[in-house]
Amino acid sequence: MKQPILTLVSCLFVCSNLIAQTAPLPRIAIAGLGIESSTFSPARTEEPAFHARYGPEVFNAYPFMMPMAPLRKQAMWLPAIVGKSLPGGAVTREAYESLVKKTLDSLRKYAPYDGMYFDIHGAMSVVGLDDPEGDFLQRIRDVIGYKTLISTSMDLHGNVSQRLARNTDLMTCYRMAPHEDAMQTKERAVTNLLERLKSGKGKPAYKAWIPVPILLPGEKTSTRIEPGKSLYAQVAPIADQPGIVDAAIWIGYAWADEPRNHAVVMVTGDDKAKVSQSAEQLAKAFWDVRNQFAFVAPTSTLEACLTNAMKSPTHPYFISDMGDNPTAGGAGDVTWTITQLLARPEFKQANGPALIYASIPDSLFIKKAIAAGVGGKVDGTAGAIVDHRFAPPVRLTGTVESIVHGDRDAEVEAVVKVGSAHVIVTKKRKPYHREADFTRLGLKPREAGLVVVKIGYLEPELYAMQKGWMMALTPGGVDQDLTRLGYKRIQRPMFPLDAATMKTPDLSTRWIPVSGDAK
Ligand SMILES: [Zn+2]
Repeated sequence: MKQPILTLVSCLFVCSNLIAQTAPLPRIAIAGLGIESSTFSPARTEEPAFHARYGPEVFNAYPFMMPMAPLRKQAMWLPAIVGKSLPGGAVTREAYESLVKKTLDSLRKYAPYDGMYFDIHGAMSVVGLDDPEGDFLQRIRDVIGYKTLISTSMDLHGNVSQRLARNTDLMTCYRMAPHEDAMQTKERAVTNLLERLKSGKGKPAYKAWIPVPILLPGEKTSTRIEPGKSLYAQVAPIADQPGIVDAAIWIGYAWADEPRNHAVVMVTGDDKAKVSQSAEQLAKAFWDVRNQFAFVAPTSTLEACLTNAMKSPTHPYFISDMGDNPTAGGAGDVTWTITQLLARPEFKQANGPALIYASIPDSLFIKKAIAAGVGGKVDGTAGAIVDHRFAPPVRLTGTVESIVHGDRDAEVEAVVKVGSAHVIVTKKRKPYHREADFTRLGLKPREAGLVVVKIGYLEPELYAMQKGWMMALTPGGVDQDLTRLGYKRIQRPMFPLDAATMKTPDLSTRWIPVSGDAK
C-alpha cells in the first residue's frame, strides 16, 4: 500500500519542479533548527532529539505547505532540513556541526535561491559556541550568498543577536504565549517572503533593532494576562501599517548565560521614519511596564503550595514543579520534588489523598517495571542520572499500574503506585501537557486530589481542568528564581536583577544594515 503514496508524493514534488521550469516561480529554500536549551542544566542534547526532516518531508511540518495549499503553488520549494527538539540542555558541538553540515550540503545542491525561509526557535545553546543561530545563518549566507531574500520566524523566547538580524531580511516572532499563533507566524513569514519576491520589492531597506535590558521568565510574561496582553496587542496594528513589513517583540530566553540573552524589539519596512518610530514605541512600552510582570499564578515554595493544596476544598489541585520543566530546558530527571512528596506522611498510605506525579525519566527503572508487569511489584531507584545536583535517585517501591509503549518522546511510560501517589516514570523525558497524556495511562486527573507536573504555566487543557493551582519555586536547570542562577556573561545592568540601580536605558533605534551591505 505504501508504493502509490510514495509515487504520489514524489510526483507532486517533481510536478511542482516541472511547472517551475515553465513559469517564473521563485526558488525558495527552507531550513532551520529549533530548540531552547539551558546552559544551567547539566543535560546535553544530541542530534536524534531534533527529529530532523529532510527534503520533501519538510512540507509535513507546515499545514500551509500541504500539496493543495495556495502557498505551495506559488514557488518552487526546495526544502533542505528542518529539525525541532524538545527543550533541553546545551546541544553538543558534534550534533550542531553535523546538522549544519547536512543543511549546507543540501542548500549547495539546489542553489541558487531567490528566497529562503529560516525556521528557528532562537534559544539554542551549543557547547563552546555563542549565538548558534547567528553562526548558522552566517554559514548559510557563505554558501547561498546575499542575493537571496531570507525570512526568519522565531519563538518570542528566542534571542536576536545583531549578527542574526544583519543576515536576515524579514524577521518575525510569535505574538502569543502560550504560542497558539505558532503556525500563523510561520505562515506570515512565508507569505511576506513571497510578497516581497513577487512584487519585486525585495529586501526591506530598514531594520530597526532595539535591545531592551529586561530578562524575564516566560511564566511572568504570558500574553493572556497583563501587562503582556496589552503590550503584545500593540504589535499587530504596528505591523499592519503601510511602509512596515513586520514588527516583533522578543522576551528572550532567561536560562542561558550569553551576552545576547535579553529582550529585543525589531521592526522592518520601507518607511524609515515609521520603522524607527514604531520600534521605539514598542521598546518604550515594554520598558514602561517592566515592574508589572508577575507570575501567572500564585507562586511559592513547594511546602507552601502543598499546604494550600491540602486545604483546598476543590479538586484537582495542580502544582507546577517549575525548576525542572522539560519544556523550558530542564533535564527532566531532577528528583527533588518527588522525594519531598513521598516523604510527606499523608501520601504514605495507599488510601491517602490521590496524587499524580508527572514525571521522572529512567530507562533502567522502566526495564524493571516491564519485568514486573502490570499488577506486579517493583522496587528500584529512578531519576537524577543527568541532574543530581539537588537530590539523589528516588526510591520507588510499589505496584505497576500500567505500561504504555509508543510515545514519540517517552517511548515507554509506566505508572507506579507508591503509597497514595501514582508516579509516572518514562524511558525518556516527556512533557505532560494534555489530558490524554494522563488518561491513556489509565490515570484520571480530574478525580485526583493533587496533580504535580513538571511544567511552568499550565497548558490550556490542564488549565481548563484545574480547580486550584500554584506554581512551586523548585530547584533545577530552569529555576524560576533567576537570582539563584548565577549569571556571569549576560549584559548588565539587567532588569530585574539590577532593578535597584538601573537608569533609563537607551531605547533608540539601532539600524541594522541590509544583508550583504558593509557595516
Ligand atoms: Zn516559547
